[in-house]
Amino acid sequence: MPPMNVDLHSHSIASDGLLPAMEVAARAKAGGVDVWALTDHDEVKALGEARSAAEAAGMQFVDGVEISVSWSPKAGNGGPKDTTIHVVGLQIDPANQVLLDGLRQIRSGRDERAERIAFDLDIAGIPGTLAGARKYAVNPELLSRSHFARYLVEVGKASSTHQAFHHFLTEGKPGYVAHQWATLPEAMHWISSAGGIAVVAHPGRYKLSQPQLNEFFAEFKDLGGGAIEVMTGSHTTTQYNHFADVSRCFGFMASRGSDYHGPGESRIEPGALPPLPADLKPVWHDWF
Ligand SMILES: [Zn+2]
Ligand SMILES: [Zn+2]
Repeated sequence: MPPMNVDLHSHSIASDGLLPAMEVAARAKAGGVDVWALTDHDEVKALGEARSAAEAAGMQFVDGVEISVSWSPKAGNGGPKDTTIHVVGLQIDPANQVLLDGLRQIRSGRDERAERIAFDLDIAGIPGTLAGARKYAVNPELLSRSHFARYLVEVGKASSTHQAFHHFLTEGKPGYVAHQWATLPEAMHWISSAGGIAVVAHPGRYKLSQPQLNEFFAEFKDLGGGAIEVMTGSHTTTQYNHFADVSRCFGFMASRGSDYHGPGESRIEPGALPPLPADLKPVWHDWF
C-alpha cells in the first residue's frame, strides 16, 4: 500500500486563502490527499464546512488553526527583537472556549494593524490601500497582509503578491508595522486547552539566526510543543533535510503541509510535497 498522503496546512477565505473551504477540500482531493487539515490564521469558523466537504470526498479531516505569535530571543542571543512566528494547532476542538476567546483577542488587533499599514503605504505614496485590501478580505475580522498584497498587484505596484511582500509589508519596507500577536505561552495554552498538538509552521521562513531558532525550539518544547513542519511549501530541498535533522535533534515529531492559499499564490498544490523521511515520527502517527 502506498503511504497515506497527509497535508496538514492550508487556508480558505476565512483567513487569507483565495478559495472557500469546500473548494480547498476539492483541490486536496484532486491532489490525492487522504488526510487533510484546514489551518486558517487565527480563525476556526470554516472548519465545519471543511469537515463536511472532506468527509463527503472520502478524506479524513483534521481540525486545525494557525496562530500568530510574537516571540523575542533573550538578551545575549540578539534579543529582544520581536519576530512573528506561526504555530499550527492540530486536532483541536474548534468549540473550545479558551481557544475561541484567545483567537478573538488576536483578531481584534488586526484592524488596528491594517490601519497603520495603510497609513504607512499612504505616506509612501500609495493611497487607498485600506479600502483596497478590504475588498479582498471575505472575513472582515481577518484583514491580513496578503489582502494588501493583492491590492498592490491590482494597482500595479507589484507584479505578484510574492513581489508585493518583497517590496512592501515586510520589515524595513513601506507598509511594515510591528504588531503584538499572542505570546508563545498563550498560544500553547490555547492549543492544549482545546486538546490539540502544537506544531511550528514553516520554521525555515523566520528571520532568526540558528542560535535564535534553537532557543525558540527549546522554549517551544518546554511549553509542550510536539512537532515541526519539515515538509512545507515554504521550504527548499535543503531546508527539508535541515529541519528533518532539527526534528531528530530535538525529538520533535514531523509534519507535512503545503500551506496552500489558492491558485497562483502557492508554489505547491495540496498533497504534492515529498513524503516525510521514513525515520521521522509523523505528527499523525497515533491518530488513526
Ligand atoms: Zn504561516
Ligand atoms: Zn499558513
